[in-house]
Parts: sequence; structure tokens; C-alpha cells
Amino acid sequence: AAKRRQLGVVLYEPSMDHRSEASLSLMSELRRAIEQQELRLYVQPKVDLLTGEVLGGEALVRWQHPQRGLVQPMQFIPFAEQTGFIRQITIWMLEAGIREMRRWQDQGHAHKLSINLSTRDLLDPDLPARVSLLLERHQVPATRLCLEITESTIMDDPQRALQTLQKLHDLGLRLSIDDFGTGYSSLAYLKRLPVDELKIDRSFVMNMERDLDDARIVQSTIGLAHHLGLSVVAEGIETDKAWALLARLGCDEGQGYGIGRPMPADQWLAWVATWQA
Ligand code: C2E
Ligand code: CA
Ligand code: CA
Ligand code: CA
Repeated sequence: AAKRRQLGVVLYEPSMDHRSEASLSLMSELRRAIEQQELRLYVQPKVDLLTGEVLGGEALVRWQHPQRGLVQPMQFIPFAEQTGFIRQITIWMLEAGIREMRRWQDQGHAHKLSINLSTRDLLDPDLPARVSLLLERHQVPATRLCLEITESTIMDDPQRALQTLQKLHDLGLRLSIDDFGTGYSSLAYLKRLPVDELKIDRSFVMNMERDLDDARIVQSTIGLAHHLGLSVVAEGIETDKAWALLARLGCDEGQGYGIGRPMPADQWLAWVATWQA
């Protein structure tokens, strides 16, 4: 405990009381993280499973903490979601991500970027205008930006979420349902959402080779998505075998450690060059 106090409390614990000293300390650390530019944009590649072509990446946040080193999102994102800090993190990610896409574009790459949204982002009525302004400022086509939302994010307040999603979609952005299969949404309303893509949760993909039920879930999700006119991304591809099986099942895109781990955004263009070589 002494060591922890010395380092400043960073780790989020589900049991954390929001009025506790630990919670207040984490809040002030997060405030500093945003002010002092301690957040980092990491990018994980997404490829076409048939051709192997790099299509773009998913933006994943990291926190370069002055004492703790690189902090993973699961150690602060849930806390940020509960306390409302997530809105500032999302705005930071949108700014950093769109700026990065502009850099790729200037090097001749039309790569897309996916950014994760949380419930509070979807309840923010200013979000569509903000995103539109950033795309305009950096002269990046809206069709290159994809926003990932989970089923539970939408189910928190489906009416308001749907309004925001519709506005974002009208701007020309792509929308993706993340962690598909883990939430409670009904398939019936999936068709009413203005989405373009389903991402199969990595738990199914990673068990697919061992567990026939998971393989069947993957297969039927791909079928369902295609019937609804959506493209399908599999995450958690760790082996060549998983890649081959998914390609055979008709999955469109893939992401996973077996293709590329999340990397600092400034390494992206070098990684793409070695992938193509
Ligand atoms: P997610 O959106 O489902 O992101 C995919 C996670 O799976 C990433 O973890 C990625 O590193 C990991 N992953 C990708 N391929 C593999 C694989 O082959 N094997 C394994 N074991 N893992 C793989 P990461 O970066 O730790 O992010 C965890 C979660 O934190 C994300 O899950 C997302 O829910 C949240 N998150 C990360 N960045 C942001 C952000 O900027 N905003 C918001 N709202 N949430 C974020
Ligand atoms: Ca995601
Ligand atoms: Ca996911
Ligand atoms: Ca997740």
C-alpha cells in the first residue's frame, strides 16, 4: 500500500468507492494525463482476409504514466467511463486519430481508422458536429473514419443512441458493432441500426479451433451479417489456421496478434512497408 501511494494510485478496481481517496487521486491523475499529453495513440492493423491487403487499423489508447510506465486501457477506461472523463479521452483520440489519417493520406495511403466510442459519447449531442469539424479541418474523407460501439453502449438508451448514430452515419462515417455476440441486443433491432460492419468478439475467434460451438457461432454470425448487408471483421486472430478458417467461412476482414499487435502510431507507416514487402 505504501508503494502504491508513492506511485499514485492508477489501477482501477471495480470495488472502488468514488468518494474514496484512491478514486480522487486517480481522477486528478487522469486530469493531468489529458493536460500534460500523457495519452498515446496505438494502432492495430486490420487486413482483407482474402488478399492480405492492409485496410487500416483500430485506434487503441494507452497512458504513458510518468511513474507507472505504459498503462493499458482496461486499467483506466472503465473508471473514465464511470466518471465522465471518457468524453475527453474520446475527443483526444478523435483528434489524434484523424491527424494520423491525414499523415497516412499525405504518404499515399487511403487507410481507414476505427475509433471506440462509449455510452456517454453517444449521449453527447455535440459529438457529430465535433467529428465533422475535425474531418473538415484535416481534410480527411468521412468514409475513412469508422466508429466502433458495443451492443451494451447502445442498449443504455437506445432512442438517444439511435439519434446520434443516425447523425454520424449521415455524415458518411462507417459504424461498427464491436464485441458482437457478447451483449444482449436482439437481432430484430440490429436491422434498424445504421451500421455497416459487425466485429465478432475475439472470445469466439480464439476458441473456434477447439470448440465446435464457437466455430458455429462465428459461421452463423458471418452469414447473418452478410444477409443484412454488413461486412464482418474477426478480431483475435492469433494463428495462420484461424486466418485460413475465417477466410474460408467468408469473413471479410481480420485483426489480431497473428497479423500485428497494437503499435505506437508513429511506427505505422514502417510496419505497412514491411507487411507489403
Ligand atoms: P476492444 O475495442 O475489443 O479492442 C480490442 C482489444 O483486443 C485490444 O485490447 C487489442 O489489443 C486486443 N487484441 C487484438 N488482437 C488480439 C489477439 O489476437 N489476442 C488477444 N489476446 N488480444 C487481442 P486493448 O488495447 O487492451 O483494449 C482493451 C479494450 O479497452 C478495448 O477492447 C476497448 O473496449 C477499450 N479501449 C481501448 N482504447 C479505447 C479508446 O480509445 N476508447 C474507448 N472508449 N475504449 C477503448
Ligand atoms: Ca473496438
Ligand atoms: Ca472488440
Ligand atoms: Ca472489448
